[in-house]
Amino acid sequence: MDCDKCKAKAVITLQHGNLCKNHFLKYFEEKVFKTINKFQLLGRDEKICVATSGGKDSLTVLYLTKKYIEKYHLPAALFALAIDEGITSYREKTLADLQEFCAEHKIKLHLASFEDEFGEKLETAVLKLNQDVKRRQCNICGVWRRYLLNKYAKKLEADKVVTGHNLDDEAQAILMNTFKANTKLAGRLGPKTGTYEHERFIPRVKPLYFCSEKEVRLYTLLKGFKVQYTECPYSKEGYRHHIQEMLNEFENKFKGTKQGIINSYLALLPLIKNSEENLEILSCKLCQEPANKEICNACNLREELNRG
Ligand code: SF4
Ligand SMILES: [Zn+2]
Ligand SMILES: [Zn+2]
Repeated sequence: MDCDKCKAKAVITLQHGNLCKNHFLKYFEEKVFKTINKFQLLGRDEKICVATSGGKDSLTVLYLTKKYIEKYHLPAALFALAIDEGITSYREKTLADLQEFCAEHKIKLHLASFEDEFGEKLETAVLKLNQDVKRRQCNICGVWRRYLLNKYAKKLEADKVVTGHNLDDEAQAILMNTFKANTKLAGRLGPKTGTYEHERFIPRVKPLYFCSEKEVRLYTLLKGFKVQYTECPYSKEGYRHHIQEMLNEFENKFKGTKQGIINSYLALLPLIKNSEENLEILSCKLCQEPANKEICNACNLREELNRG
């Protein structure tokens, strides 16, 4: 199989043809840079916090955000922020890769952890919190991770948080919201997060929005990044995993399914956002972070742990 552009050996077949290593790398990087430009994800002189775990998506977005800043000679500042959830024999490895990567690329890395902030690692918190109500690890993890990202990004005076969400993640999230009728959350996806304003909310952006998981994986392989391709031990337990399997099966049978979901969502997004404008964002009574109730979800879980 040859590259459609230069007749070298192809490494991937995309909807629009086959590409060799060099042409794929070029195509991939241009796609990310175009996304940043089209949706104005980064400002010229912003302080940018890249949310990183050391996995393939976050290393890719960290590398390319830095490359973008250098390419356009932006006076922007960049640092990485990692959250250690406390998942033994998984997170230590990805954090070690991340530390090595940041040292090699001269990127300042900040760390925060569930244990320091909430007094428990995810794995022990789950056992205590799940005595009354059955909650999935991913629900607790998601609430606390989003909370700490915003809190630390704010503390470190960032103007933006860049995340490594890819096209697969986004298509899964859109379907999850649809299947669970989470209409209030519907407008909170997209390449730039939510329209809602709150003095403590740092906008989040997703430069890998149009890159599939398969493309990101290949990019990291071809670039020779040191990455663990293993998944979190809890990743197969959540609802998302079933959506992921279903979507992958559909994509195999009907190429372009995931892209179709994203395109439909983006076409509807202006309407969804308009209907969202009146949603009030409160400040949590305990921590003053943005909340949709008097007490934010993260504090609620912490209170529950303290009572337990
Ligand atoms: S799979 Fe679930 S528990 Fe594991 S890191 Fe992701 S959200 Fe957290
Ligand atoms: Zn080529
Ligand atoms: Zn709170």
